[in-house]
Amino acid sequence: MKDALMSSAIETLRTISLRCVECSTLYPGMEAGWKPRYRCDCGGVLDVELAPPTGAKGLRQLFDERASVPPTWPVNTGNILPDHSGVWRYRELILPVPGQYIVSRPEGNTGLYPVGTENCGAGRIGHRHIGSYAGLDHLFLKHEGENPTGSFKDRGMTVGVTMASLLGAQAVACASTGNTSASLASYAAQAGMRGIVFLPAGNVTVGKLAQSLAYGATTIQIDGDFDAAMQLVEQVCNELGIYLLNSLNPYRVEGQKSIGFELLQQLNWQAPDWLVLPAGNLGNTSAIGKAFRQAYQLSLISHMPRFASIQAAGANPFYRSFQQGFTMREPVQAQTVATAIKIGDPVSFTRARRVIEESNGLVEEVTDAEILAAKTIIDRSGLGCEPASAATLAGIRKLVERGVMKRDESVVGVLTGNLLKDTLTGIPQTGENLVVTASIEAVRRVLGQ
Ligand SMILES: *Cc1c(COP(=O)(O)O)cnc(C)c1O
Ligand SMILES: [Zn+2]
Repeated sequence: MKDALMSSAIETLRTISLRCVECSTLYPGMEAGWKPRYRCDCGGVLDVELAPPTGAKGLRQLFDERASVPPTWPVNTGNILPDHSGVWRYRELILPVPGQYIVSRPEGNTGLYPVGTENCGAGRIGHRHIGSYAGLDHLFLKHEGENPTGSFKDRGMTVGVTMASLLGAQAVACASTGNTSASLASYAAQAGMRGIVFLPAGNVTVGKLAQSLAYGATTIQIDGDFDAAMQLVEQVCNELGIYLLNSLNPYRVEGQKSIGFELLQQLNWQAPDWLVLPAGNLGNTSAIGKAFRQAYQLSLISHMPRFASIQAAGANPFYRSFQQGFTMREPVQAQTVATAIKIGDPVSFTRARRVIEESNGLVEEVTDAEILAAKTIIDRSGLGCEPASAATLAGIRKLVERGVMKRDESVVGVLTGNLLKDTLTGIPQTGENLVVTASIEAVRRVLGQ
């Protein structure tokens, strides 16, 4: 049994190549000694290349059949592949891995909410305010905060930890602004691996820190920013033989592609005009862009949407570079209330640049005040999100105001994280938190009746 498993793992690894995004050098998915490779010899990051799926024609039907499979439990035993996972449902385009290795909650299957002034149903008066705020008739929000640990990071992590299990890893590690570590901690615990996370001290919300600790990860806060933690963890993994699960890890990007596939499936494979998302380390821009590129190449959709990546004005190296026609690239000292995008030197810069260029897309920046105003709108609508996610709506509003985005265009915005991830930022000023004596008269008074 063990040998059969081993050879199926080797088979999977044989179908994968890794290509440098800077110089295009191609490496095998697995090199001698099973030592994982995270970078090209030139220092560039790597992109997974799979053999094109056979029978691409039937893919849409296959995915649609799997989406109709009712949730089954347990999802992850024996040879049963978790068709119910919003990631593994698309495995032909992500990682064709034997079912026994898959570590899945399952994740994905997140809501795609129609919130535009025209496409918002009568029972969604609250959601409709978002469309009015944005100035769009046909707006959808994909709420990735509905993933098992509350952010889209679970989509990459299920693939990353599955790869770790394929490689027989005992320990996995990442640097994180909080959500990656929460996700890693959960998936590592599920797989019986040691989870080790590096966080920038004082820059991670209590909710995210609590998740890492509760799931049992070794949680190391370093005296430095995210970018410093990122450099340290790469060195630690290379020297101590721990499997690295940062966005440097090419398989995480593959898993995050499923946001694109899943929203397309929810739209009956009709691509929107625009895809808008917050941008920090740029893994998600790269991943969703790659998903749309592949869907287009496989004729699953008829056109690419234009991508708009939204950065916080205090953490905007991608925006600055875009302003210069991508002729320069300079790290910044990041400063923003949106801790999940507080990143000064994004790892997936080159991959994301390609997405913006090939989709005729753009990069916009929004201030913290604009982020918090948009967050209040999303929160009050009943959907709710963490601050970084609200950059999406703030960016859309700005692009509509500037006339770049047209009122009648169809737009999908990604909400990346759950409201409960950050319960302090922006909340105390917005809610009505009343304390009264326990009497009907007192309640009448505060309700103004
Ligand atoms: C990770 C994260 C982001 C940023 O995504 P990148 O891939 O780093 O650009 C945005 N919002 C939330 C909630 C996140 O967890
Ligand atoms: Zn290279």
